Amino acid sequence: MLYRLREAGFMAFLVGGCVRDLLLGLEPKDFDVATDALPEEIKKLFRNCRLVGRRFRLAHVFFGRETIEVATFRATSAPSEGDEPLPETDPEDGETPELDDETGARAFDASGRILRDNVYGTIDEDVWRRDFTANALYYNIADFSVWDYVGGAEDIAARRLRLIGDPETRYREDPVRMLRAARFEAKLGFEIDPDTARPITTLRELLSAVPPARLFDETLKLFLTGHGARSFEVLRRRGLLAALMPSVDSYFVSHPGSLVEQLLVKGLANTDARVIEDKPVTPTFLFALLLYGPIAAIIEAAPPERWHELATILDACDQAVRGAQTHMAIPKRFALGVREMFALQPRLEHPRGRRALRVLEHPRFRAGYDLLLLRAEFGLAPPEMATWWTRLQEVSAEERDRMVDALGGEAARGAPAARRGGRRRRRRPRARATAPT
Ligand code: ATP
Ligand code: MG
Repeated sequence: MLYRLREAGFMAFLVGGCVRDLLLGLEPKDFDVATDALPEEIKKLFRNCRLVGRRFRLAHVFFGRETIEVATFRATSAPSEGDEPLPETDPEDGETPELDDETGARAFDASGRILRDNVYGTIDEDVWRRDFTANALYYNIADFSVWDYVGGAEDIAARRLRLIGDPETRYREDPVRMLRAARFEAKLGFEIDPDTARPITTLRELLSAVPPARLFDETLKLFLTGHGARSFEVLRRRGLLAALMPSVDSYFVSHPGSLVEQLLVKGLANTDARVIEDKPVTPTFLFALLLYGPIAAIIEAAPPERWHELATILDACDQAVRGAQTHMAIPKRFALGVREMFALQPRLEHPRGRRALRVLEHPRFRAGYDLLLLRAEFGLAPPEMATWWTRLQEVSAEERDRMVDALGGEAARGAPAARRGGRRRRRRPRARATAPT
């Protein structure tokens, strides 16, 4: 790949996270290439190549299952004469209206946010538009040298995260850099340089101007790439959770040290372990964890006899999802998944005879069961039911039948109580869901 570009007379460098990770002895997640070839020239060299992106025009080159991102060097990103002002971003869908190829290569909005950056330049211009010094090292395959214009190697050695240029300007250009700072702090265990950390307190609200879909993507990178529990800690400490998901943050502010927070952190740690073992993880489960507090709070605002009614639970899920979508977009399929996971909880807590076998077949059973296990661990659901479902999955078909039949009688006795509003003690685990320990 790199050699093909070189043979064609272009420069080709590995750049960004992969060089940083290699220097840290970590396995790079993906490889980014920077070159002086133009996107159209890259496309001519590689048959398996697609040009993507409007804001940043890039080439994606496919090698089997791997995609390598190839970017043409760009000139510095500070606003300058000749950059036209553009209409404000439409808050509804985050799309910038009237932005087509004729309007110029680079554009900013009124707050200095970059809307488009396609002015090509040289490598020593390209470096200044990268975010952190640790992400701005170029590895030259021609002679295996590392080109370092900004002291990135020194910062990596000191495990320090430092923005290139004036931090406030850089955050204004792209507020997502605040989340990236938090992500690298969590992922790499780097310390954020004080000058880079300071403006976050005053600028974090700028995140509300970022397209909601981009915030969703960034949230997945924060929580589903193996360091979610640490990301949560960093986001809370830096006031960024409040800027990203205000309703989720305010639950934790009003319920300090709650069981729900412990459940979330444990759930994130379990998710991290799965990522590290290369097991699949899903945004549905993540959002169920994040929204647990708001959902529980909404349910508890209803009269206690309605806490276990399906309508109450579904309504709480819908409200909580809407509440969380102030800044971020949660795609519908994940919102529906969260709903199903919570709707399964009463059925898991009170299985009714043979119907339990159908619950086992439910497409969301696994996620619902995992949530039940977590809730049971923190005393928010009856632990004996968690054990029961675990056993049900392990035993033979005959034993399974015996288990649900045995349940039949018990469930029949329990059913009227449920209809009366679940006044029996073990039917009220949610009562403890928000009790601040
Ligand atoms: P990861 O380990 O998550 O892949 P990364 O540093 O490679 O981390 P990418 O999002 O893959 O992050 O971006 C690749 C490189 O592009 C970064 O290292 C950085 O140099 C540059 N970059 C990415 N996003 C931004 C941004 N918002 N502002 C400035 N530079 C950026
Ligand atoms: Mg990368």
